[in-house]
Amino acid sequence: MERGKLVVVSGFSGTGKGTIIKQLIERYGYSLSISATTRAPREGEVDGREYYFKSTEEFLSLVDYNGLIEWTKYVDNYYGTPRKFVEEELAQGKTVILEIEVKGASNIKAQYPDAVLIFVTTKDIATLRERLEKRGTETAEVINKRISRAADEAELMDNYDYIIVNDDLEDCIDAVHSVIISDDYKTENSLDFVKKIQGELAEYK
Ligand code: 5GP
Repeated sequence: MERGKLVVVSGFSGTGKGTIIKQLIERYGYSLSISATTRAPREGEVDGREYYFKSTEEFLSLVDYNGLIEWTKYVDNYYGTPRKFVEEELAQGKTVILEIEVKGASNIKAQYPDAVLIFVTTKDIATLRERLEKRGTETAEVINKRISRAADEAELMDNYDYIIVNDDLEDCIDAVHSVIISDDYKTENSLDFVKKIQGELAEYK
């Protein structure tokens, strides 16, 4: 069976990437990797659904036994991608989405060169601040920390294969989906097929 595709979706906190990913999963049946984190659950978040919520000790022991394919510290908490789920889904030919930040994304690209890296952003930073404030789940201090983190993240935006502006939600979902689909048609992902056609034509030379 052909191995599945790994898709990394990143974006500044507050760009709406969570909503976009949820829709992609519902509409197209992609698999979502659930990360481990030491962050406390927000209201309504459920262990094993949004994240696997871990103590620092538990998280570091996951790191120790190589249970994560990548991990990082983001605004005072650890976040990481569990290895087992991703490997099993890819082996079954599934498209797996990772919703992770920029350092994790570079780490993934180094280990999985075929991964498709997509960065979702608001059209400007005023819009980003507005969305974070509207969400109302974070204190002003945390919002400022997240925007200053966005400044660091922006430095790694050019590592991504695709940059998509989330102005209109539906357009953005379509754009992300098109990118995932069009990756299948890249010549470098069809080399076996090209060889087959060339083989079939060899006798006509
Ligand atoms: P939040 O606390 O808002 O849920 O997530 C904060 C940031 O951590 C987001 O940018 C999110 O994409 C990122 N993140 C979530 N899970 C992981 C992970 O497993 N690895 C990495 N590197 N980043 C993650």
